Amino acid sequence: MSFEQQVIIVGGGPVGMGLAIDLGQRGIRVVVVEKYLEPQPIPKGQNLTQRTMEHFHAWGAEKELRAARTIPKEYGIGGMTSYGTLLGDYHYDWLQREIVRPYYFTDNERLPQYATEAVLRKRAAELTTVEFLYGYAVTDVQDGVAGVSVKVENRETRATKWLSGRFVVGCDGSTSTVRERAGMTQTSRDHNRLMALLVFRSTELHELLARYPGKSFYNVLSPELHGYWLFFGRVNLGNSWFFHAPVPIGTTVENFDFDAYLHKAVGTKFSIEYDYRGLWQLRIAIADHYRKGNVFIAGDAAHSHPPYGGYGVNSGFEDARNLGWKLAAELNGWAGAGLLDSYDAERRPVFESTARDFIETSIRVDGEFLANHDPKRDREAFEAAWSARAKGTAGEVGSFAPNYDGSPVVCGNSGAQPTALGNHEHAARAGHHLSPLSLVDGTNVYERLGAGFALLSFGADQHDVEDFRQAAEALRIPLAVVDGLTSQHLSRYGVQLVLVRPDQFVCWTADKLSCPADTILRKVIGKEFQA
Ligand SMILES: Cc1cc2nc3c(=O)[nH]c(=O)nc-3n(C[C@H](O)[C@H](O)[C@H](O)COP(=O)(O)OP(=O)(O)OC[C@H]3O[C@@H](n4cnc5c(N)ncnc54)[C@H](O)[C@@H]3O)c2cc1C
Repeated sequence: MSFEQQVIIVGGGPVGMGLAIDLGQRGIRVVVVEKYLEPQPIPKGQNLTQRTMEHFHAWGAEKELRAARTIPKEYGIGGMTSYGTLLGDYHYDWLQREIVRPYYFTDNERLPQYATEAVLRKRAAELTTVEFLYGYAVTDVQDGVAGVSVKVENRETRATKWLSGRFVVGCDGSTSTVRERAGMTQTSRDHNRLMALLVFRSTELHELLARYPGKSFYNVLSPELHGYWLFFGRVNLGNSWFFHAPVPIGTTVENFDFDAYLHKAVGTKFSIEYDYRGLWQLRIAIADHYRKGNVFIAGDAAHSHPPYGGYGVNSGFEDARNLGWKLAAELNGWAGAGLLDSYDAERRPVFESTARDFIETSIRVDGEFLANHDPKRDREAFEAAWSARAKGTAGEVGSFAPNYDGSPVVCGNSGAQPTALGNHEHAARAGHHLSPLSLVDGTNVYERLGAGFALLSFGADQHDVEDFRQAAEALRIPLAVVDGLTSQHLSRYGVQLVLVRPDQFVCWTADKLSCPADTILRKVIGKEFQA
């Protein structure tokens, strides 16, 4: 086996394996270095959005992922919020992702992260371009002009060796060795909260929750916690659970009564058998840059945060999807000089917005609600505020619409800034995710996009389409032209020409070319951008 790889991926968790597939499918030679032989059995990262499932579709692993689900489809994977205790008098549906379903090609999903990782490992193993070093830990990274060297250690024999590659991507989680060895700094906001993570079995809890059919995750707002959550999630239907919540500073696994804490959170006693008990610090940390020379970071290595709202693994997968095509473009020789830097320019502000506008906002808003409303003090006012919250839950899902408006590699709104805040629309907008579209032959436009750029033409001038074809050929950009689309389609997207990137974000729209296609293509592959 040759270790002369184009990309070395450190960490074969969900993000590293997703990136390996993305690159491997594009013909890039990749090695994944992962310290564990098997995925670790902690059921985190369960809540997978519709957007994440679009990635799985693109990675050829959607069917397999759905088959690995641990909660039967007919049971449902909804969420709910309750007040005081899990069995308290007040509750409403929460994180109803079905609200945004029309804007994505495929359904959301829910399964434990280790099950997701197993599916990804299997899919990656099918690609001849991807090699694996399981049971190896990366201990050092050195960057040079021509590429990177990465030191790996066999965890059993302690033998070490150096791998060389053109680029390295640290997908090695929040304590990233790659980030640290490459000297990439991060800024963190410590919430000064110690959190417990418990994994346990209890059929009694399942029976108690029979009153909430179709729910798989539960968020309890307790006045004592000032907006930090008591969070329960199902692992397997009927018996297994995970739970996370703040515990007093100084708590250890030995000195704390977890049974009593769980009973209080639920509001009654029930039997518990623990599989795992652990502690972690609640903080938000974001790397100051996602790239340094030939070193990149993605997923939790670039941004770590509490699992409030299911933003972690989903954001990490989007990092992989954003970086995958750009690295491949560079290695295949058609990227502009600024394309790789656009990864940081697009993904970092989106995560900063995710942390600020969603994760920390939800903690603050919940804290304010609990401080201002108490049914014991004023039942009527509490119930009015509770019902307003219940009606407003669609807002969080609806306004989470990461977009690259103002990105240096997107045409259009140059005054804007990439952000996670937005709205969902079918209209094609430069910088925004492409809405799906059913075609008369029963397929979806998502199935016609191909792996490179795609130009959707809704009865546009054939000269314009031809101009794009020729410019793409000259620049060696893979471009699929999807034409023969009807006027009904035009009304959905609202424009006759839509240029879509390999990660399914729109990067230019118009009814007619007002400048040469070459100018547009140069912009979207980073030929005009310098960080
Ligand atoms: C309780 C809990 C619940 C969560 N729920 C959700 C949720 O519902 N939705 C959601 O989106 N997110 C959720 N998250 C967050 C999610 O789990 C993380 O965002 C996700 O694991 C990040 O994936 P990653 O691949 O970036 O990092 P990790 O999952 O941390 O993977 C890193 C990989 O790198 C390997 N590694 C580390 N160091 C080295 C090294 N030096 N050499 C070689 N290999 C190395 C590790 O073994 C690991 O396999 C939750 C997190 C927790 C704790």
